[in-house]
Amino acid sequence: MALGVLVGGSMGLAMPALAQSARTAPTVPKTKPAPPPRPRLIALDPGHGGADPGTTGASGMHEKTVVYAVATELERQLTAGRRYRVALTRRGDLFVPLRERVSRARAARADLFISLHADSHPDSGVRGATVYTLSEGASDREAAALAAKENKADLVAGIDLRRQPDDVASVLIEMTQRGTVNQSRTFAGIMVEALRHHGVATLPRSHRHAGFAVLTAPDVPAILLELGYLSNRADERLLLNKAHHQKLARAIAAAADRYFGTRPSQPGPVPAAKKT
Ligand SMILES: [Zn+2]
Repeated sequence: MALGVLVGGSMGLAMPALAQSARTAPTVPKTKPAPPPRPRLIALDPGHGGADPGTTGASGMHEKTVVYAVATELERQLTAGRRYRVALTRRGDLFVPLRERVSRARAARADLFISLHADSHPDSGVRGATVYTLSEGASDREAAALAAKENKADLVAGIDLRRQPDDVASVLIEMTQRGTVNQSRTFAGIMVEALRHHGVATLPRSHRHAGFAVLTAPDVPAILLELGYLSNRADERLLLNKAHHQKLARAIAAAADRYFGTRPSQPGPVPAAKKT
């Protein structure tokens, strides 16, 4: 998102070309038809994998297997009709470090990042889905850490930070990260509504904040979705059921549709920083 929007150099490049065309071609300039909107890219992150099974249900089913099944069903639904492109952070039963998952999503220039997990709780009566976004404190820490990186060999929102003075780079990172967190929260609210609308049980206070490492991309709105509790018999039964996977995928796809439906089809400007 927000590629190059804070870079003010485009006018300078455009002016000579305009002047030239005014001299040589005084007729009405041809207007190119607008290119079709780029299909949005959604990064799906099935949690855990390989040597890391995640939590385990009473039946012995591993979290990594459940969330991978939901991720592939969701991929199938999102790519049907070519509305979206999908990038999975792991393809198969592989261990991928958390930061690497974020890097893969950023490298692919994902428009949205959805991490899928299943939870467990000592109280087997606890059940329902929860949506997490990055907490304020964790967001500020990430922005500070990124700003402090020695070589800043990094692009944030399409801006090459090496070309920016330190204080400018810090402000750009902070603004971008704040805008991203705001968008993540908007998406989380839509997700909670969509889950309920599709009849998926949710925890009370279904939208929560935490410092999960996979949510730390400064320029990709991200949520972590706990699909339910493998420690709860009713949830576990559902999480092993293909029809329920399809229902979860429908709810998540509907949330993505609503989220992108309210946003311009091409990357837009970073929303103004807003302290809440
Ligand atoms: Zn997990």
